[in-house]
Amino acid sequence: MDKKDIVSMNLGELKEEIKALGESAFRAGQIYAWLHKSAVTDFYEMTNISKQLREKLANNFDIYGCTIEKKLVSVYDNTVKYLFRLHDGEFIESVVMKYKYGYTICVSSQVGCKMGCKFCASTKAGFVRNLYPSEILGQIYAAQRDLNIRISHVVLMGVGEPMDNFDNVMRFLELVSDENGVNIGMRNISLSTCGVVDGIYKLLEKKLQLTLSISLHAPNDEIRSRTMPVNSKWNIDTLLKACRKYAAETSRRISFEYAMISGVNDSDECAGELAQRLKGMLCHVNLIPVNEVEGTGCKKSSPERLKRFISILEAKGITATVRRTLGSDINASCGQLRIKHKDGGSTQK
Ligand code: SAH
Repeated sequence: MDKKDIVSMNLGELKEEIKALGESAFRAGQIYAWLHKSAVTDFYEMTNISKQLREKLANNFDIYGCTIEKKLVSVYDNTVKYLFRLHDGEFIESVVMKYKYGYTICVSSQVGCKMGCKFCASTKAGFVRNLYPSEILGQIYAAQRDLNIRISHVVLMGVGEPMDNFDNVMRFLELVSDENGVNIGMRNISLSTCGVVDGIYKLLEKKLQLTLSISLHAPNDEIRSRTMPVNSKWNIDTLLKACRKYAAETSRRISFEYAMISGVNDSDECAGELAQRLKGMLCHVNLIPVNEVEGTGCKKSSPERLKRFISILEAKGITATVRRTLGSDINASCGQLRIKHKDGGSTQK
């Protein structure tokens, strides 16, 4: 029988488990701190717990986490990209970036992705499985330990669609923001979705103070359906209706991601149409020159195009910025490293 995933448990659940082992619930608090504050990878590191209890723990539970399979450091900006190995031999990616306000980690939520966006590398090798809460947390713990830093911000913008792993992502958010653990505040967390509208409504019910990011990437259904299959289930009107409700009820500004693909979604008309659709919403547009993933045929828009696109948005009252590109020499965009590793890593430096 598989052992239980102890890192995915909240303190209440852990107390019940410890009581069931015939131990005092008080121990649960100590164990929880070892797992989430000290981020130990082995029960034998829990030095204030008796040897006997440590053995019981090891017999009943596993500490699922991430081990570093590969690490790449950008020579330009010290961005670090990890390829992590999971307990079952699957691989996921995370990226750590340094900003003025601290370290941000971009974490994966699934092994692979089902969403099929044409420009994205994460989806190319298909979907394997959801990550457990412990494995999403494990990316933060492993990176902090390796770099000897404290990470202050988290973006769920790695491989996978967080709304497609909703319950595990919610548990991850509960644990990561817990003051008895790594204690990263909700306001420092962003969750990105390609537009899974029922997930947006479910998230709204939770009334969390995180930032919702929407991968919009097109101003109309014709273009969006060509690049993002999710649009045939929830079109732009349906998506933006949910976003307006979300912004109004949480008073949190929504961040729209817009990857600029030359000749596809970057014309002046597209900018005008986008501004029209977002009018009056508490939001911000993040433009990203598309990362040219092999085999997608997507080419970056020119810097002049980006400038012009922004000026049109701003003239119509929509705030927009161009996202700074970090780690361009290490394939920092999600999904790219995992695919190369699966192919045998032949193209990786
Ligand atoms: N599935 C979620 C979480 C992934 S976030 C989502 O789609 O939002 C990763 C972000 O990078 C998304 O905005 C995604 O659309 C974007 N992205 C994917 N491939 C890209 C590429 N080649 N260039 C620029 N952005 C890309």
